[in-house]
Amino acid sequence: MDETRLLQKLMGDPKLKTRVKVENLLLVHLGLRQCSQTVLPVDLPNAEGMGSTIDRRMAPKMIQIQRVTDPRRKLAAIASLKKEMRTAYDKVVRASDQYKGLLSWARDLRLRTRLADVRPTVQELYLFKEGRVGGRLKGLMKSRQKIRARVYASAKPGMERIRLAYPEEFEGSWLREMGEMLGYPGCCVEAYVSDREREFNVEERAARQLAEAEQLGNMDPLAYYVGYFFPCTPDCEQAASRGRECLESLADLDPSLGELYSTLVAGNLENVRLQPEVIARYRARVEGGPEVRP
Ligand SMILES: [Zn+2]
Repeated sequence: MDETRLLQKLMGDPKLKTRVKVENLLLVHLGLRQCSQTVLPVDLPNAEGMGSTIDRRMAPKMIQIQRVTDPRRKLAAIASLKKEMRTAYDKVVRASDQYKGLLSWARDLRLRTRLADVRPTVQELYLFKEGRVGGRLKGLMKSRQKIRARVYASAKPGMERIRLAYPEEFEGSWLREMGEMLGYPGCCVEAYVSDREREFNVEERAARQLAEAEQLGNMDPLAYYVGYFFPCTPDCEQAASRGRECLESLADLDPSLGELYSTLVAGNLENVRLQPEVIARYRARVEGGPEVRP
Protein backbone atom coordinates (compact mmCIF):
# COMPACT_ATOMS: atom_id res chain seq x y z
CA MET A 1 0.00 0.00 0.00
CA ASP A 2 1.44 3.42 -0.80
CA GLU A 3 2.13 5.93 1.95
CA THR A 4 -0.86 8.19 1.17
CA ARG A 5 -3.35 5.30 1.26
CA LEU A 6 -1.76 3.95 4.40
CA LEU A 7 -2.14 7.32 6.15
CA GLN A 8 -5.75 7.65 4.97
CA LYS A 9 -6.48 4.24 6.38
CA LEU A 10 -4.81 5.13 9.67
CA MET A 11 -6.76 8.37 10.04
CA GLY A 12 -10.03 6.56 9.33
CA ASP A 13 -9.44 3.77 11.86
CA PRO A 14 -11.99 4.07 14.70
CA LYS A 15 -9.99 1.75 16.96
CA LEU A 16 -7.49 4.46 17.94
CA LYS A 17 -7.72 7.91 19.48
CA THR A 18 -6.80 10.71 17.08
CA ARG A 19 -4.11 11.97 19.46
CA VAL A 20 -2.45 8.55 19.54
CA LYS A 21 -2.60 8.25 15.75
CA VAL A 22 -0.97 11.62 15.16
CA GLU A 23 1.33 12.20 18.13
CA ASN A 24 2.35 8.65 18.99
CA LEU A 25 2.35 6.87 15.64
CA LEU A 26 2.66 9.45 12.87
CA LEU A 27 5.17 11.85 14.44
CA VAL A 28 7.51 8.95 15.25
CA HIS A 29 6.99 7.44 11.80
CA LEU A 30 7.89 10.78 10.20
CA GLY A 31 11.02 11.12 12.36
CA LEU A 32 9.66 14.19 14.21
CA ARG A 33 9.90 12.41 17.59
CA GLN A 34 12.37 9.69 18.42
CA CYS A 35 10.00 7.92 20.79
CA SER A 36 6.41 8.13 22.01
CA GLN A 37 4.68 6.76 25.10
CA THR A 38 1.13 5.37 25.00
CA VAL A 39 -0.39 4.57 28.38
CA LEU A 40 -2.68 1.54 28.45
CA PRO A 41 -5.58 1.40 28.74
CA VAL A 42 -5.98 5.20 29.29
CA ASP A 43 -4.97 6.08 25.73
CA LEU A 44 -7.38 3.62 24.09
CA PRO A 45 -10.85 4.87 23.03
CA ASN A 46 -12.67 2.44 25.32
CA ALA A 47 -10.43 3.06 28.36
CA GLU A 48 -13.34 3.87 30.66
CA GLY A 49 -15.29 0.76 29.73
CA MET A 50 -12.16 -1.37 30.15
CA GLY A 51 -11.38 0.19 33.52
CA SER A 52 -14.84 -0.41 34.87
CA THR A 53 -14.91 -3.99 33.58
CA ILE A 54 -11.66 -4.67 35.45
CA ASP A 55 -12.95 -2.87 38.58
CA ARG A 56 -16.15 -4.90 38.49
CA ARG A 57 -14.20 -8.15 38.26
CA MET A 58 -11.97 -7.13 41.15
CA ALA A 59 -14.62 -5.62 43.44
CA PRO A 60 -15.49 -8.78 45.47
CA LYS A 61 -11.80 -9.46 46.11
CA MET A 62 -11.15 -5.83 47.12
CA ILE A 63 -13.89 -6.03 49.74
CA GLN A 64 -12.48 -9.32 51.04
CA ILE A 65 -9.00 -7.82 51.41
CA GLN A 66 -10.26 -4.83 53.35
CA ARG A 67 -11.68 -7.25 55.91
CA VAL A 68 -8.37 -9.14 56.45
CA THR A 69 -6.61 -7.82 59.55
CA ASP A 70 -3.73 -10.26 60.04
CA PRO A 71 -0.71 -8.57 58.36
CA ARG A 72 0.73 -11.77 56.87
CA ARG A 73 -2.57 -12.91 55.49
CA LYS A 74 -3.13 -9.43 54.15
CA LEU A 75 0.19 -9.48 52.24
CA ALA A 76 -0.66 -12.86 50.71
CA ALA A 77 -4.14 -11.63 49.77
CA ILE A 78 -2.69 -8.53 48.11
CA ALA A 79 -0.19 -10.63 46.15
CA SER A 80 -2.97 -12.83 44.83
CA LEU A 81 -5.12 -9.77 44.05
CA LYS A 82 -2.27 -8.34 41.96
CA LYS A 83 -2.07 -11.57 39.98
CA GLU A 84 -5.79 -11.51 39.32
CA MET A 85 -5.65 -7.86 38.32
CA ARG A 86 -2.96 -8.66 35.75
CA THR A 87 -5.03 -11.55 34.40
CA ALA A 88 -8.08 -9.30 34.12
CA TYR A 89 -5.94 -6.65 32.39
CA ASP A 90 -4.67 -9.21 29.87
CA LYS A 91 -8.20 -10.44 29.13
CA VAL A 92 -9.80 -7.02 28.91
CA VAL A 93 -7.06 -4.78 27.51
CA ARG A 94 -4.46 -6.88 25.73
CA ALA A 95 -7.04 -9.13 24.11
CA SER A 96 -9.03 -6.14 22.81
CA ASP A 97 -9.26 -5.15 19.14
CA GLN A 98 -8.16 -1.65 20.11
CA TYR A 99 -4.90 -2.83 21.66
CA LYS A 100 -4.23 -5.28 18.83
CA GLY A 101 -5.04 -2.54 16.33
CA LEU A 102 -2.44 -0.26 17.90
CA LEU A 103 0.26 -2.93 17.64
CA SER A 104 -0.71 -3.73 14.10
CA TRP A 105 -0.39 -0.04 13.15
CA ALA A 106 3.05 0.08 14.75
CA ARG A 107 4.02 -2.84 12.51
CA ASP A 108 2.52 -1.28 9.37
CA LEU A 109 4.39 1.96 10.04
CA ARG A 110 7.57 -0.02 10.72
CA LEU A 111 7.96 1.13 14.31
CA ARG A 112 9.64 -0.84 17.05
CA THR A 113 7.76 -1.41 20.30
CA ARG A 114 8.58 -1.93 23.96
CA LEU A 115 6.00 -2.65 26.65
CA ALA A 116 6.65 -1.68 30.27
CA ASP A 117 4.69 -2.71 33.36
CA VAL A 118 3.70 0.24 35.54
CA ARG A 119 1.03 -1.23 37.77
CA PRO A 120 -0.95 -4.51 37.56
CA THR A 121 -3.53 -2.87 35.32
CA VAL A 122 -1.39 -0.21 33.65
CA GLN A 123 1.28 -0.61 30.98
CA GLU A 124 3.20 1.80 28.81
CA LEU A 125 3.81 1.11 25.14
CA TYR A 126 6.84 2.87 23.69
CA LEU A 127 7.09 3.33 19.92
CA PHE A 128 10.36 4.21 18.18
CA LYS A 129 12.40 3.53 15.08
CA GLU A 130 16.00 3.11 16.18
CA GLY A 131 17.20 -0.01 17.94
CA ARG A 132 19.42 1.98 20.33
CA VAL A 133 16.32 3.70 21.76
CA GLY A 134 15.02 0.27 22.76
CA GLY A 135 18.25 -0.46 24.61
CA ARG A 136 18.07 2.80 26.54
CA LEU A 137 14.41 2.22 27.36
CA LYS A 138 15.27 -1.19 28.73
CA GLY A 139 17.85 0.42 31.02
CA LEU A 140 15.36 3.06 32.15
CA MET A 141 12.74 0.44 33.01
CA LYS A 142 15.34 -1.47 35.04
CA SER A 143 16.29 1.63 37.00
CA ARG A 144 12.62 2.35 37.62
CA GLN A 145 12.32 -1.09 39.22
CA LYS A 146 15.36 -0.34 41.37
CA ILE A 147 14.02 3.05 42.50
CA ARG A 148 10.71 1.43 43.39
CA ALA A 149 12.35 -1.41 45.33
CA ARG A 150 14.45 1.10 47.27
CA VAL A 151 11.48 3.35 48.09
CA TYR A 152 9.24 0.43 49.14
CA ALA A 153 11.98 -0.92 51.40
CA SER A 154 12.30 2.41 53.18
CA ALA A 155 8.60 3.37 53.09
CA LYS A 156 7.25 4.83 56.30
CA PRO A 157 3.67 4.68 57.50
CA GLY A 158 1.74 7.76 56.52
CA MET A 159 3.81 8.31 53.36
CA GLU A 160 1.72 9.70 50.54
CA ARG A 161 0.51 6.84 48.37
CA ILE A 162 1.24 8.75 45.19
CA ARG A 163 4.94 8.68 46.17
CA LEU A 164 4.72 4.94 46.59
CA ALA A 165 2.79 4.45 43.38
CA TYR A 166 5.18 6.51 41.22
CA PRO A 167 8.42 7.01 43.18
CA GLU A 168 10.45 7.57 40.00
CA GLU A 169 8.47 10.80 39.48
CA PHE A 170 10.52 12.25 42.35
CA GLU A 171 13.92 11.11 41.06
CA GLY A 172 15.72 13.79 39.01
CA SER A 173 18.18 11.61 37.10
CA TRP A 174 15.44 9.21 36.01
CA LEU A 175 13.13 12.05 34.93
CA ARG A 176 15.94 13.70 32.94
CA GLU A 177 16.66 10.55 31.00
CA MET A 178 13.00 9.84 30.33
CA GLY A 179 12.49 13.45 29.20
CA GLU A 180 15.40 13.13 26.79
CA MET A 181 14.06 9.80 25.56
CA LEU A 182 10.71 11.40 24.74
CA GLY A 183 12.53 14.25 22.99
CA TYR A 184 11.37 17.05 25.32
CA PRO A 185 13.38 20.31 25.29
CA GLY A 186 16.09 20.44 27.98
CA CYS A 187 14.75 23.68 29.53
CA CYS A 188 11.29 22.14 29.99
CA VAL A 189 12.72 18.92 31.46
CA GLU A 190 14.82 20.94 33.93
CA ALA A 191 11.80 22.98 35.03
CA TYR A 192 9.83 19.75 35.56
CA VAL A 193 12.67 18.07 37.51
CA SER A 194 13.29 21.11 39.69
CA ASP A 195 9.57 21.32 40.59
CA ARG A 196 9.36 17.61 41.41
CA GLU A 197 12.56 17.64 43.48
CA ARG A 198 11.38 20.62 45.51
CA GLU A 199 8.00 18.89 45.83
CA PHE A 200 6.28 21.69 43.94
CA ASN A 201 3.22 20.65 42.04
CA VAL A 202 4.18 20.69 38.33
CA GLU A 203 0.59 20.49 37.16
CA GLU A 204 -0.50 23.47 39.24
CA ARG A 205 2.53 25.48 38.16
CA ALA A 206 1.78 24.79 34.50
CA ALA A 207 -1.93 25.61 34.84
CA ARG A 208 -1.17 28.85 36.70
CA GLN A 209 1.45 29.94 34.12
CA LEU A 210 -1.04 29.26 31.36
CA ALA A 211 -3.79 31.33 33.00
CA GLU A 212 -1.36 34.24 33.55
CA ALA A 213 0.10 34.04 30.04
CA GLU A 214 -3.34 34.03 28.45
CA GLN A 215 -4.20 37.28 30.22
CA LEU A 216 -0.94 38.88 29.10
CA GLY A 217 -1.14 37.37 25.61
CA ASN A 218 2.39 35.92 25.75
CA MET A 219 1.77 32.30 24.98
CA ASP A 220 2.13 30.03 21.98
CA PRO A 221 -0.27 27.08 21.65
CA LEU A 222 2.39 25.19 19.70
CA ALA A 223 4.50 24.97 22.89
CA TYR A 224 1.95 22.29 23.90
CA TYR A 225 3.12 20.23 20.95
CA VAL A 226 2.36 16.80 22.44
CA GLY A 227 0.02 15.58 25.16
CA TYR A 228 1.06 15.19 28.82
CA PHE A 229 3.98 17.54 28.22
CA PHE A 230 4.51 20.63 30.38
CA PRO A 231 6.54 23.43 28.73
CA CYS A 232 8.81 25.43 31.08
CA THR A 233 6.84 28.53 30.07
CA PRO A 234 3.71 28.88 27.89
CA ASP A 235 5.84 30.59 25.23
CA CYS A 236 8.94 28.35 25.47
CA GLU A 237 10.67 28.90 22.13
CA GLN A 238 12.22 25.43 22.04
CA ALA A 239 8.91 23.67 22.63
CA ALA A 240 7.02 25.94 20.22
CA SER A 241 9.60 25.39 17.49
CA ARG A 242 9.08 21.63 17.82
CA GLY A 243 5.35 22.23 17.49
CA ARG A 244 5.91 24.37 14.39
CA GLU A 245 8.07 21.69 12.82
CA CYS A 246 5.38 19.07 13.45
CA LEU A 247 2.65 21.36 12.14
CA GLU A 248 4.55 22.22 8.96
CA SER A 249 5.51 18.62 8.19
CA LEU A 250 1.97 17.34 8.74
CA ALA A 251 0.43 20.18 6.71
CA ASP A 252 2.90 19.45 3.88
CA LEU A 253 1.78 15.85 3.89
CA ASP A 254 -1.88 16.84 3.83
CA PRO A 255 -3.40 20.22 4.78
CA SER A 256 -6.20 18.49 6.69
CA LEU A 257 -3.58 16.75 8.86
CA GLY A 258 -2.15 20.16 9.71
CA GLU A 259 -5.58 21.37 10.79
CA LEU A 260 -6.13 18.22 12.81
CA TYR A 261 -2.79 18.72 14.56
CA SER A 262 -3.77 22.30 15.48
CA THR A 263 -6.91 21.02 17.19
CA LEU A 264 -4.85 18.40 19.05
CA VAL A 265 -2.46 21.08 20.27
CA ALA A 266 -5.42 23.16 21.48
CA GLY A 267 -6.66 20.07 23.31
CA ASN A 268 -3.26 19.50 24.93
CA LEU A 269 -3.30 23.09 26.17
CA GLU A 270 -6.79 22.59 27.56
CA ASN A 271 -5.62 19.46 29.37
CA VAL A 272 -2.79 21.38 31.03
CA ARG A 273 -5.40 23.87 32.22
CA LEU A 274 -7.53 21.04 33.69
CA GLN A 275 -4.70 18.81 34.93
CA PRO A 276 -4.70 19.96 38.59
CA GLU A 277 -8.35 18.87 38.90
CA VAL A 278 -7.63 15.52 37.22
CA ILE A 279 -4.73 14.89 39.61
CA ALA A 280 -6.80 15.85 42.63
CA ARG A 281 -9.47 13.34 41.60
CA TYR A 282 -6.83 10.66 41.00
CA ARG A 283 -5.21 11.31 44.39
CA ALA A 284 -8.54 11.06 46.15
CA ARG A 285 -9.12 7.69 44.51
CA VAL A 286 -5.61 6.33 45.21
CA GLU A 287 -5.52 7.55 48.82
CA GLY A 288 -8.98 6.10 49.42
CA GLY A 289 -8.51 2.59 48.02
CA PRO A 290 -6.50 -0.38 49.31
CA GLU A 291 -2.77 -0.14 48.79
CA VAL A 292 -1.67 -2.19 45.79
CA ARG A 293 1.94 -1.83 44.74
CA PRO A 294 3.05 -3.04 41.34
ZN1 LIG B 1 11.30 25.03 27.70
